[in-house]
Amino acid sequence: MLSKRIANITPSATHAMTARIAEKRAAGEDIITFSIGEPDGPTPQPIVDACKQALREGKTKYTPTNGIAALREAICEKLKKDNGLVYTPAQICVSSGAKQALSNAVFALCDEGDEVLIPTPCYVSYVEIVKLAGGVPVLVPTNDDFSLNTENFRNAITPRTKLILLNSPNNPTGAVYSRASLEALGEIAEEKDLYVISDEVYEKLVYDGAEHVSIASVSGAMYERTVIVNGFSKAFAMTGWRLGYTASNLAISKACNAFQGHMTSCPVSFVQYAALKAFTDCGDAVEEMRRAFEQRRDYMHARLNAMPGIRCRKPQGAFYLMPDVRAYLGRSCGGRTIGTAEDLCNYLLDEAGVAAVFGEAFCMPGTVRFAYANSMENIRLGMDRMEAALKKLN
Ligand code: PLP
Repeated sequence: MLSKRIANITPSATHAMTARIAEKRAAGEDIITFSIGEPDGPTPQPIVDACKQALREGKTKYTPTNGIAALREAICEKLKKDNGLVYTPAQICVSSGAKQALSNAVFALCDEGDEVLIPTPCYVSYVEIVKLAGGVPVLVPTNDDFSLNTENFRNAITPRTKLILLNSPNNPTGAVYSRASLEALGEIAEEKDLYVISDEVYEKLVYDGAEHVSIASVSGAMYERTVIVNGFSKAFAMTGWRLGYTASNLAISKACNAFQGHMTSCPVSFVQYAALKAFTDCGDAVEEMRRAFEQRRDYMHARLNAMPGIRCRKPQGAFYLMPDVRAYLGRSCGGRTIGTAEDLCNYLLDEAGVAAVFGEAFCMPGTVRFAYANSMENIRLGMDRMEAALKKLN
């Protein structure tokens, strides 16, 4: 009954974990979630107020497919101010979340059989979006510290390679790619005639003074070859509002617009008006959130590393930690043996009421992804419970 394309995709492991948590909570269990990739705080009030006003003013009809002009202009200003990149509003396509922006870009660039290089570990949806577009995902391992390995990229390139799908700051590792590594990759892309989709949704969440660099800014050639994907979900705690965008050369922008026109017509009208406030009225709220994440990262990182056998790098971005848990594979408790990171996550969920996502979902077995987008109190309690549960594994 189902198409080969749909039969061939793997449902999102993070959404599957969310469903398991809901089941357990419905059964009265107390679960602490480190599995969901969304800011725990509320959407800043100026955005909420602007949304109400837009609704009162009747801004409830279709908008242009690529978004209202005022928002595309505001996005151009943001790109100039934050990234030093000059775009015109026609080069922006506003969409229903960064995920749709990503899908637009992949469908705009990928022909049947085109190979798409994806550094791993990677965001759960990349492989599936590429497959849906008829492309072939090619996984390119990063270095041990999750930085880009340009040699691995060179080795993965074939005559069918079309595209690189980058994400910095990174989900799931939290890695922030250096300017030098992006310049090196840009040179390869230029030499081999490749395009880059650069997913920058965690741009605002960088720590220790780290700098977010868009690969579109490393050279004039990369400006032409890069589709920036960004959105409002992570920076402005707007996951449920569904708003993202692409910035690219005009031809790709028109293609994204054409594709989106047949998929969703346009992003939600009143959400676009509300988002205008994000760039002008929310700087303090974003900085407050960033600082809170930095503290939580420091605390959770220290707690994880204090657990025997757990090895965790301290990344400089996003809100994820991805420790190596291989020391626990092969151990058991009460007849239950932990063979994989997925088994360990199931054990932690059942035994400690702690939810995290196994690395297999991000193409990195032997690791677990913890999102620290949760209150300090919950992080403290979750780490206590996890520590106790791990002690029981022999
Ligand atoms: N890209 C990355 C790397 C993400 O982690 C996520 C969400 O988790 C998205 C894109 C999707 O963002 P949005 O909610 O704007 O669709």
